[in-house]
Amino acid sequence: MLRRFASNLRAKDASFNAFVSFEDPLNLDNITKGPLNDYTIGVKDNICTSSLPTTCGSAMLRDFTSPFDATVVKLLKRAGAQIVGKTNCDEFGMGSLNIHSIHGPVINPFRVDSRRAAGGSSGGSAAAVAAGLCEVAIGTDTGGSIRLPASYCGVVGFKPSYGLISRYGVVSYADSLDTVGVLAQDVQKVEKVFECVNRRDHHDPTSAEERSRKQARLLALNSIERWNGQSLKGLKIGIPQEYFPSELTSSSNHIISSIRYLLSQLRSLGATIVPVSLPSTKYALSAYYVIASAEGSSCLTRYDGIQYGSRVAPPLGSELTSTSKIYAHTRSRGFGREVRKRVLLGTYALSADAFDNYFLQAQRVRQMVKDDFDHVFSIPNVLYTDSDSASEMKDMEKPEIDGVDVLLHPSAIRIAPRLDEMLDDLRERDILQDYVQDVLTVPASLAGLPALSVPMRFGIREDISNEQDEDWPIGVSIVGQWGTDKLVMDVGKVIE
Ligand code: GLN
Repeated sequence: MLRRFASNLRAKDASFNAFVSFEDPLNLDNITKGPLNDYTIGVKDNICTSSLPTTCGSAMLRDFTSPFDATVVKLLKRAGAQIVGKTNCDEFGMGSLNIHSIHGPVINPFRVDSRRAAGGSSGGSAAAVAAGLCEVAIGTDTGGSIRLPASYCGVVGFKPSYGLISRYGVVSYADSLDTVGVLAQDVQKVEKVFECVNRRDHHDPTSAEERSRKQARLLALNSIERWNGQSLKGLKIGIPQEYFPSELTSSSNHIISSIRYLLSQLRSLGATIVPVSLPSTKYALSAYYVIASAEGSSCLTRYDGIQYGSRVAPPLGSELTSTSKIYAHTRSRGFGREVRKRVLLGTYALSADAFDNYFLQAQRVRQMVKDDFDHVFSIPNVLYTDSDSASEMKDMEKPEIDGVDVLLHPSAIRIAPRLDEMLDDLRERDILQDYVQDVLTVPASLAGLPALSVPMRFGIREDISNEQDEDWPIGVSIVGQWGTDKLVMDVGKVIE
């Protein structure tokens, strides 16, 4: 049966373009027995697989197949998952709309005729789940690339705490921000898969230590126990006032009214809702783009056509013979427009003249954003304590009365945009608008916090004959302290 499903996948995907390659159905016969036996899984095409190419949506890696599986892929297979194919994405994860891919844009499956963007960069993963092409999909999230497409496509998208899921075998975009995460139709499936891949990995130097994982888990449990059961009595939810910027309030009234309705429901379940302030939020987007581009420009230097990447040889007989000219030729043809722009931006930010004013300044903002979060959460950040002594743990288990357990805010400032508007005038339109899409997701990325986007399902009409913007899905995000991933997912289960 699975074989038949897999052989039909290509045909089913024709209207979405969510997948870029498909596993040979014959290979799906030897599945290990395990907890994920019922799950078909799509894996984003920037995560290495030995049986399928890993192109990262780039001409540079058009012909690349990894000799090994990424740790996350190994763990999925070990748990009995059936990996059915690789999912489309923006080139090297750089983008918010999945329009920067050599495989073409992904079509949002919510209403195909409407031809809207699926969001990016894990647009293929979100669309594959939304279209029912696979049970679960794995994505990566550097500044919002799981949460934004999840919000646009109406599925659940989870970016775990930085360092919980191994990045070994995941093609780097920006090492200090890259996170592997999970998308599915409901939080329970996300959690089940997360539990199988949430492992320390000595191949990944940024993989979180067992001690920190354990401490944070205990603190989260402590908080969960206060409100466990049907009622949310004892759960304190913070609403960050800076997460309702003018880009959101001026155009998307229905997003705000949906959030209001959700809050009234949570309140009636017993949750305490309090306004909080994260004052550095307004600087987060600029800081993110400086840091991500700087790290991106550095990570991408390996694709020179000699060590890595498809070499594009200069024409025979031309004077382009020196090594640096081979690099230049390869890189200007192998990288797409958006990636070249990021490399230039990042290289500039790291240059001697600009370093202090841009890169260092952005790092300072990053610290301010982290401090803001630590200030509002009742649970302390275990990464900043270097002792595991019993007395310290005991102190940490006592939540500060004033802090909140989780934060809640809209996942995006708008619904999925129309693709023709995004593609037609790629040259002329204000591309900064694409960057603004990430304004609500980047702060949690800068701070490495767990963040879950869950669709707000109410308000979606069944009668779709005359389509309105209000009918399109929009997600709500729950953000927690580092390592409290279970708490975040438990709150998500109440909301979905
Ligand atoms: N849109 C953001 C960027 O282009 C986020 C991408 C991501 O999370 N991979 O950097």
